[in-house]
Amino acid sequence: MTLRAGDLLTLTREGLYCPLGRFHVDPTWPVERALISHGHADHARAGHGSVLATGETLRIMAVRYGEDFCGARQEAVLGADVRVGDVTVRFAPAGHVLGSAQIAIEAQGVRVVVSGDYKRAHDPTCRPFEVVPCDVFITEATFGLPVFRMPDTAAEVRKLLDSVALFPERAHIVGAYALGKAQRVMMLLREAGYDRPIHLHGAMEKLTELYKREGFALGDTPKVAATDRAGLKGAIVLCPPSSIQDVWSRKFPDPVTSFASGWMRVRARARQKGVELPLVISDHADWPDLCRTIRETGAGEVWVTHGQEDALVHWCGTQGIKAKPLHMLGYGDDGDAEPAPVEAAQDAADEVTDEAAA
Ligand SMILES: [Zn+2]
Ligand SMILES: [Zn+2]
Repeated sequence: MTLRAGDLLTLTREGLYCPLGRFHVDPTWPVERALISHGHADHARAGHGSVLATGETLRIMAVRYGEDFCGARQEAVLGADVRVGDVTVRFAPAGHVLGSAQIAIEAQGVRVVVSGDYKRAHDPTCRPFEVVPCDVFITEATFGLPVFRMPDTAAEVRKLLDSVALFPERAHIVGAYALGKAQRVMMLLREAGYDRPIHLHGAMEKLTELYKREGFALGDTPKVAATDRAGLKGAIVLCPPSSIQDVWSRKFPDPVTSFASGWMRVRARARQKGVELPLVISDHADWPDLCRTIRETGAGEVWVTHGQEDALVHWCGTQGIKAKPLHMLGYGDDGDAEPAPVEAAQDAADEVTDEAAA
């Protein structure tokens, strides 16, 4: 009897489970054995019996949760086959954040690939996404609506540098997720030739130090002391998204509030958050890249884990690809409050209408 994809992976309360390998992938509850795609808090949780993940992801988890974040840990080498129970597992780069990987699970000639979160756009802080041909591709769909087309990131960083040049008296306060986005923005600034210090909110410090230990030339990134905020005219300051609006940022000289996020593609979202200078920089695949990636894997079947599932499932149907939404709970933000999918879809849909009317 031939093996079916459902025998390789099935959905349980804790998340995706592989019965033949007796492990979960990115479980949202503590389990005996977890394979983890990347270090964002919605995928990598503490308290598992054992964890198999890339070395970078293991080190990120240790920084976030402490060295005792799990019982036993095993490092997955990208591209290498590992036998787990009765299946063969292989990690491949996902291009999302440092250490991020897709996880391919194979038995009896059937291969399922769990993408985790991924993107195809340029990111100097992680290995580029690699297409892994498979029978079933399990994809995220954070930006799974046709309206989500992300611009070139170099041009977005240029907007920030132009604003700094235009307002040398004002501090630029840039909200960015502490893992991945912040370091990507720093590297993009360095690539654009910016060599002044990039000031950091205390919450960014530990992970930024980790990136430096991993070999990324992020340059001078001093932590902002409460007392020197008023003196930081013309500086670029990175902080968690939640801090751009609070009292902390108001102590800077005439602050320009900015936010680096794919959600900034939705202008209503930028306005609601009081963001003066939105930077559309996403760590997730946009609509064209989601569609391109599904095609390139050659998968005959697609499962959509989280995000805007319905439009992508519908698109697969138009391409003759079998698809279903998994409606998975517990995923969908990278450590900070993000709009609920329904709300985001409504905002995005409103803008399509706005753009059509304009
Ligand atoms: Zn993520
Ligand atoms: Zn995620």
